[in-house]
Amino acid sequence: MDAVLQAKRNELMARWQEIYDLTGIAALLNWDQSTYMPEGGGVARGRQLALLERLAHERRTDPAIGRLLDVLQPYAESLPADADDAAHLRVMRKIYERSIRIPADFAAEFAEHTANSYMAWVAARPQNDFAAVRPYLQKTLDMSRQMAEFFPGYAHIADPLIDFADEGMTVAIIRPLFEELRQALAPLVATISQRAPVDDSFLHRHYPKAQQLAFSAPIIQAFGYDFTRGRQDETHHPFMTKFAHDDVRITTRVDEYDLSNALFSTLHEAGHALYELGIDPAYASTALDSGASAGVHESQSRLWENIVGRSRRFWEHYYPALQAAFPAQLADVEVDAFHRAVNRVTPSLIRTEADEVTYNLHVIIRFGLELELLEGKLTIDDLPAAWHARYEENLGVCAPDDRDGVLQDVHWFGGPIGGSFQGYTLGNIMASQFYAAALAAHPEIEDEIGAGRFTTLHTWLRDNIYCHGAKYTPQALLERVTGQPLTLTPYLNYLRIKYSAIYGPL
Ligand code: ZN
Repeated sequence: MDAVLQAKRNELMARWQEIYDLTGIAALLNWDQSTYMPEGGGVARGRQLALLERLAHERRTDPAIGRLLDVLQPYAESLPADADDAAHLRVMRKIYERSIRIPADFAAEFAEHTANSYMAWVAARPQNDFAAVRPYLQKTLDMSRQMAEFFPGYAHIADPLIDFADEGMTVAIIRPLFEELRQALAPLVATISQRAPVDDSFLHRHYPKAQQLAFSAPIIQAFGYDFTRGRQDETHHPFMTKFAHDDVRITTRVDEYDLSNALFSTLHEAGHALYELGIDPAYASTALDSGASAGVHESQSRLWENIVGRSRRFWEHYYPALQAAFPAQLADVEVDAFHRAVNRVTPSLIRTEADEVTYNLHVIIRFGLELELLEGKLTIDDLPAAWHARYEENLGVCAPDDRDGVLQDVHWFGGPIGGSFQGYTLGNIMASQFYAAALAAHPEIEDEIGAGRFTTLHTWLRDNIYCHGAKYTPQALLERVTGQPLTLTPYLNYLRIKYSAIYGPL
């Protein structure tokens, strides 16, 4: 690479670092807003975040970035596909081109609309007032369609919106995959609901907050979460956020009458954080310093939360410590009963509280509704009734109102309709696929989990998935790591084996 090109490359990387830092500063302000900010800070905080977003957008769409990318294109093409610089340039170009296709006026209008829509939702949900959000939702749908139209050439109108979150995924890939999954899950749910119910009442005894937090912190540390590069604070809705390569934080919410809540959300968010913290330090503050996609990210949170954290082996090790932390609450509960309780399967109304077996049905319902809305086959007016009908059909339950129906998730009130939900189920599927590959390479992982040791698993995940950051597309990463494209088999095997042990042969 000659000196002139080298200088151009360095200029591009320096410009990108400013975009990265503006994003990190916005994340810090958002984190503060959700954790410690006094109520009075709200108005100014909204203004500050809008300013940062405007500055980041100006820098992302600066024509100078386009010129630098063009000058460096022959260099990118001269490199082996596997080279880091080829990936840097590919990802920066993808983000740049996506940003310039959406007109600045539209982006500003959409940001303002979603802020208003979110506030309307916050007020409407407790009141069970769908009519109050109806006009906002209609505008969100109209603008989501317009947003897709900025990316012509798609096969399905949802494809561009899906691609924002899960690059390379399309309706043509996801729809048949989800249908196959739905058909496999329905009989599983039906059979389980005929088996003896699992008692989880003891999870709802009184568990003081301080002991709950003291119990989970050493576990995520054992997973590999580094408290010198992160911290945990309390919030209303748990999330992971990244301010910089070496500052990746998690938040949790504690319910003193639901032991599962903080415990498993902590393991979940720690999984997201381990991914970000495990990215190659050489990629720090570049376009590659983030996960590969929403689905791959979710595969890591679910792997640590469910495959590890809700496994029998895991609790053989940790249950004595849990009992010691809560002697009065758990003295009469055996490890077997505890393991069954934290894996209790029951069709329910709320996605975020759903068990592993029914969870994907919640996602599949939403994904299907999004497609029909975008296709114009379903109107906003008919959405609440369609929601209830799908729940009745797929889960055999029906919410008494819209509060626990169409108003339950923030997604459609804080972003576009389309592309918001598929990542959760793609993540579940990929989690099992990745885990099967880890076990094939290191069969000792299960014994180590039973001994409270996670180094082999964490190291394997870091070296095969985390370290690459956004270098590979999700599908390229999956094939590289597992030797296979996205496939349901490991996931269905996992569910069948795990839940047969709990509920009897399935
Ligand atoms: Zn997650």
